[in-house]
Amino acid sequence: FINMGTFFPTRVEYNDYMRWSADQFKEHVHYGQEVIAIEPVEQGGEVEWVRVRSRNADGSEQEIFTRNLVIGIGGYPKIPAVFAGKMGENMVHSSRYKHEYERFARHETPRIAVIGAGQSAAEIYLDLMDQYPDGKMDLVSRSRALHPADDSAFVNEIFDPAFTDTIYARPESERQDFLKRFSQTNYAVVDLAEIEQIYERLYLQKVTGKMQHRFLSNRDIVGVQNDGTRVLLTLRNKDTGVEQTEVYDGVVLATGYNRNGHEQLLSPMADWMSEKDVERCYRLPMASGCHANVFLQGCCEETHGLSDTLLSILAVRSQEVVDALIERQSRPLE
Ligand SMILES: Cc1cc2nc3c(=O)[nH]c(=O)nc-3n(C[C@H](O)[C@H](O)[C@H](O)COP(=O)(O)OP(=O)(O)OC[C@H]3O[C@@H](n4cnc5c(N)ncnc54)[C@H](O)[C@@H]3O)c2cc1C
Repeated sequence: FINMGTFFPTRVEYNDYMRWSADQFKEHVHYGQEVIAIEPVEQGGEVEWVRVRSRNADGSEQEIFTRNLVIGIGGYPKIPAVFAGKMGENMVHSSRYKHEYERFARHETPRIAVIGAGQSAAEIYLDLMDQYPDGKMDLVSRSRALHPADDSAFVNEIFDPAFTDTIYARPESERQDFLKRFSQTNYAVVDLAEIEQIYERLYLQKVTGKMQHRFLSNRDIVGVQNDGTRVLLTLRNKDTGVEQTEVYDGVVLATGYNRNGHEQLLSPMADWMSEKDVERCYRLPMASGCHANVFLQGCCEETHGLSDTLLSILAVRSQEVVDALIERQSRPLE
């Protein structure tokens, strides 16, 4: 690995590492259970416990009671409005790509559109070109170009653990401004290596005259028709307004994630939650009389900054939650 001269482990190696990590504590994990609600357990007008309701793979439900809960459920697919109700077997969100790309194999030379301009879109676009060498792949994007991810040294300091204090202390408007100014570290950007690979492949098409794949940039998707076999996308050029309709056997939506799934799960707790921002230690502020602790992980970007959805300071964040728990346990109840 050292001889490769890179800081980037391959996805394959990283996947191995994650599997190894997960194996270390598998006896503590209940796989195949979907949490469907988090409810207050009220006794004498106070809440000491929450009830976590979950559904097993066979549809049966179960409950766990706890005083302390950490919610770290990641993101769920963001599907643009124009695709709502149009999803089918021939469309997949990037989060399921690895499990489902073989579906496209029922066509000998599949025509596939990848929607997006971020890292997932770029990696999937390249992977599809390799998986289906005779297929036709289009990368469709609103933006005019693929922009490089900024991981330069000074910018990268926003991912230092200490930066969380800095950002948390700022007023909301400043935090929003910060998220916008530094979004090119993580959102709608691509590592330079993949940008160069894509550019080279498209350039070589020009040299050889074999025009197989396209980058349809600066296009809004204004219409989607899906008859279950073919998908018709109507694309509008953002400069000229000219529309074109393209036909695909499959579409991959690399359109990102929403990170507010906890709101739905916590809706039964609404009466016991305060409106205030999540605390620095990631605890949700509760109304008086609620002594149960609920911590959020991975969905506090607006208050804790851009490292929040990432792995960069995960160990430090976990320690902060543990410290907060110990501190609260050793304090008399309010
Ligand atoms: C393509 C891609 C590349 C990335 N690369 C990087 C990178 O290089 N560096 C980096 O720091 N970050 C990267 N990220 C971000 C990465 O997703 C996070 O850093 C990391 O996965 C966050 O871990 P997490 O445990 O918070 O969430 P997740 O890994 O998303 O895990 C959440 C888990 O909760 C489960 N879950 C959700 N809802 C429920 C429910 N109701 N009941 C039960 N379980 C539920 C989900 O199934 C999932 O297993 C990348 C993300 C993507 C998509």
